[in-house]
Amino acid sequence: MITVEDARALLFGLVDRLPAETVSLSQAAGRILAQDVAAKRDQPPFAASSMDGYAVKSSEVELHAMFKVVGEAAAGRRYSGQVGAGQAVRIFTGAPVPDGADFVVIQEDTERRDDLITITDMPGDKTNIRPKGVDFKSGTTISAPRRIRPEDVALMAAMNIPEVPVARKPIVALISTGDELVMPGDTPGPDQIIASNTFGLKALLEDVGAEVRILPIARDTVASLETAFDLATGADLVVTIGGASVGDYDLVADVSANLGMERSFYKIRMRPGKPLMAGRLGKAAMVGLPGNPVSAMVCGYLFLVPMVRRMVGLAEALTPFQTAKLVAPLGQNGPREHYMRAILDNDGIRACDDQDSSLLSVLAQANALLVRQPNDPARPAGDEVLYLQI
Ligand code: AMP
Ligand code: MG
Repeated sequence: MITVEDARALLFGLVDRLPAETVSLSQAAGRILAQDVAAKRDQPPFAASSMDGYAVKSSEVELHAMFKVVGEAAAGRRYSGQVGAGQAVRIFTGAPVPDGADFVVIQEDTERRDDLITITDMPGDKTNIRPKGVDFKSGTTISAPRRIRPEDVALMAAMNIPEVPVARKPIVALISTGDELVMPGDTPGPDQIIASNTFGLKALLEDVGAEVRILPIARDTVASLETAFDLATGADLVVTIGGASVGDYDLVADVSANLGMERSFYKIRMRPGKPLMAGRLGKAAMVGLPGNPVSAMVCGYLFLVPMVRRMVGLAEALTPFQTAKLVAPLGQNGPREHYMRAILDNDGIRACDDQDSSLLSVLAQANALLVRQPNDPARPAGDEVLYLQI
């Protein structure tokens, strides 16, 4: 059995960074930027007014000063003349500031009669002008890799970047195994349960940028499992769920070996999730997850998410552990690393009462995995512990 850390290193060895592809800007949100992109223009492309008012010379701004309004500058339509001494141009937000002017008196500080304005409230020092290129200049870059957020999309749009280089989405095939499983919405027989892991894992992995295919449930026969593996052809990562242990119906190890899986490791010294296997199956990486729902999800967080992040080129593939103070004592840990379902709030962190690896309701209440080292001694409230946010 190997440690979680060693397992992660070996899993990273099974996946490579995927090549980039180009998508239109409107499809880019949530994807991982694969190459730096550069602004194709300055923003604003000219000195622009930030207010509605009058463009004048700053040297002439004083209380009761009068100006003759000689023209108008609106957003999208500049005033092409010069602003001379004693002159003002009516200006609106977003309009280019005309030559000769270097100050915008806001309209609230003026009174207008016909084409004459008077400054009735002394303006402060603020010019109300956005300098050319103050937001970004032509050539300003957005650096890769990064997950493209809505604000990045807005920025790229403003930069006039209509097509975006992003990492290809890793294709993950999920195979649930077991005679007892039916799909949500189906009618289970008296001895059957609903396949839950595939759906939880799909949501988890799509959230970090994978394209996930849920394959038909494989029955506990060699032929059914072989068919499922066949259907997984073309995936970058093939994940089986269940059937990975040592029971009579745990066929994943044998069937995958017969199909040529080069095993990287089998079994991790951890709770939950000990019977995890991984290796290379043709061009794909393969991970065999334990079937217990909590084990499968915890292994998803610890192993599959980092693999997906690695494939999309995120340098920080591993989400760092954080620390929190215990609000309730913990008993001594056993010989395996333990990822305990836990609840983190402003007071600190507390392990959930029942750590059975089949209890999805407990996992759904948890928002953290509290990490215990092998043989970690009993800990009083107030001790600092490591956790992974989920
Ligand atoms: P196994 O590893 O196949 O022995 O499965 C361990 C436990 O997890 C059994 O109780 C299975 O019924 C359950 N299980 C396996 N796969 C799934 C799944 N996809 N969804 C929900 N439970 C599962
Ligand atoms: Mg099974």
